[in-house]
Parts: sequence; C-alpha cells; structure tokens
Amino acid sequence: MAHVVTRLCQENKDTACVAVCPVDCFYVAKSPTEDLPDRLYISVSECIDCGACIEACPWQAIYADSDVPAQFADDTPLNARCDTERDLFDKAVNEPKSPPSPEEVAANKTKWGL
Ligand code: SF4
Ligand code: SF4
Repeated sequence: MAHVVTRLCQENKDTACVAVCPVDCFYVAKSPTEDLPDRLYISVSECIDCGACIEACPWQAIYADSDVPAQFADDTPLNARCDTERDLFDKAVNEPKSPPSPEEVAANKTKWGL
C-alpha cells in the first residue's frame, strides 16, 4: 500500500504535498518526457501512508492506491518508477504557488476525463 500522484498534478506542480510529507518521499523526473511527465511522484517504498498529502493537495491529485480511479490506473506503475529507476529522479523540493480556484480544480479534472 502507498499513495499515488495522478496526472491531475501535471502542469500544476505547486508542491503543497512536499511541504507536509513527514518522510520526504516525493520525487520529480530529472528530464521529463512524454512517458515520464513533469509532475510529482511518490516512492512506494518510502511512503508510510499517513494520508497528509491527500488533504494538502489543492488539485485533489493524490489517492490511496486502493482508491485510484480506473481511468488513472497507469499512474500507479508510473509512481513506482521512482523506486525502480531512481537514477531518473530527483527529490522534489518545496516551491509554493498560489492555490487554484474551485473552478480551476473542476476544469482540470474534466480535462483528464474524471
Ligand atoms: S501518504 Fe504521507 S508519507 Fe505517503 S506521500 Fe503522502 S504525506 Fe508522504
Ligand atoms: S500538491 Fe498535488 S498538484 Fe501540487 S505538486 Fe503535490 S501532487 Fe501535484
């Protein structure tokens, strides 16, 4: 069991999750590609399932792995790559941005088919 960052984070990297994680287990791709997008990733082996990031994420992009929506199923193995291919990732750092409006959150979900 671990928590999973979904594609709802893409283009919205405000790092509010990084600020609250007690074990510093968020990562970013060193050189983002279409297959490894510019967004946050959670280390399956380091996450302690505290759930703090779910509440903190203003884009509602994080789920417990048992709750990941079916249309975002590919995001679970994508997060796991930051354990199996660690050389491709750096630790995420906290770089705060202004939170989105409720309308922006809803539009982002619609954009990704949720
Ligand atoms: S559930 Fe807790 S430990 Fe896991 S990524 Fe979120 S804040 Fe970090
Ligand atoms: S708080 Fe949510 S949207 Fe922001 S960087 Fe973390 S996972 Fe992405």
